[in-house]
Amino acid sequence: MEVKSNNITVERTKRSKIDQVDFDNLSFGSVFADHMLVCDYKNGEWGAPSVVPYQPIELEPSAKIFHYGQSIFEGMKAYKDDQGGVWLFRPEENQKRLNISAKRLAMPELPKEIFMEGLATLLQVDQEWIPQTKGSSLYIRPFMFASGNGFHASPADAYKFIIACAPSGPYFSGKVKVLIEERYSRAANGGVGFAKAGGNYAAQFYPTQLAVQKGYNQVIWTDDNTHEYIEEAGAMNIFVRINDTLITAPTNDRILDGITRKSILDIAADEGIETEVRKITVAEVINAAKDGSLKEMFGAGTAAVVSPISAFGYKEVDYNLPELDQSYAALLKKRITDIQYNRGDDKFGWRYRVL
Ligand SMILES: *Cc1c(COP(=O)(O)O)cnc(C)c1O
Repeated sequence: MEVKSNNITVERTKRSKIDQVDFDNLSFGSVFADHMLVCDYKNGEWGAPSVVPYQPIELEPSAKIFHYGQSIFEGMKAYKDDQGGVWLFRPEENQKRLNISAKRLAMPELPKEIFMEGLATLLQVDQEWIPQTKGSSLYIRPFMFASGNGFHASPADAYKFIIACAPSGPYFSGKVKVLIEERYSRAANGGVGFAKAGGNYAAQFYPTQLAVQKGYNQVIWTDDNTHEYIEEAGAMNIFVRINDTLITAPTNDRILDGITRKSILDIAADEGIETEVRKITVAEVINAAKDGSLKEMFGAGTAAVVSPISAFGYKEVDYNLPELDQSYAALLKKRITDIQYNRGDDKFGWRYRVL
């Protein structure tokens, strides 16, 4: 057992799985790196974090995560540059957002040092797991859940924070066909839509299955009250380009404050692209599709960076988007990934060196 600075103990695996992994053919999030960071909260305080071999977790059937769903997570990536340097993209934003989610779910906030130093230690131990193949990265999943026991419906008295990692290949989702949702909602005013809570995803699966049965890939979420406003694209923020203006909805109770979303707004402005943060109506998008001013729609999130939409359905009618040679989606994706992989200059100071 080694002890790192800041008291993070490291227990290395005796049987690395790295030789069994084909780094040229990685899918998303299905093979896991050798180690994980674990930190337990009990008796009102966080204990010392440790890096241990990736392994199953033992929980009692009465653990509150199973009954009352206190579970939150983050999604981020580590990128390796051509010289072998290892980088994160705006990691403090993930750290802050984890605690915003924790507060809303009545879970304890995690000290910043545990998140940042735990992540750095884990990445150092598992650095061989960060792929160097173009477009690949190590997907990082920090998460926290109620490990305390009891059937009484109240917040748990114990929690676990874990960071697990999965080497992942380039994310070629292809263009997606989406359905604008008229009945179901992923979030409501006063609810937990702005938190990265596991339950938000559970609630999305059924309406998404219905859309898939109708031949769509994904759902465009509208506001829960009127279903007249466009809010998110699946588990991504959404951008709509009408003529040459890039529009995204303002964040609120129902919309997650995505790091990719806000980075795109800054980069677009830097490129001289006109941006608007305002409510977008379904009617406006349909009119723009009809008169030809609707140029692009895309989702924005860490996994794909941008996910271009080829067509959308609404009230049994499909509307196609044009194929553009020079899309904002491609330009913005290149600018962001150049920063992430240490290929371009980083005028906003978003890159964070780990190794
Ligand atoms: C995670 C997530 C996003 C994207 O956030 P990023 O910080 O850009 O990865 C957008 N919407 C929802 C609902 C999410 O869960």
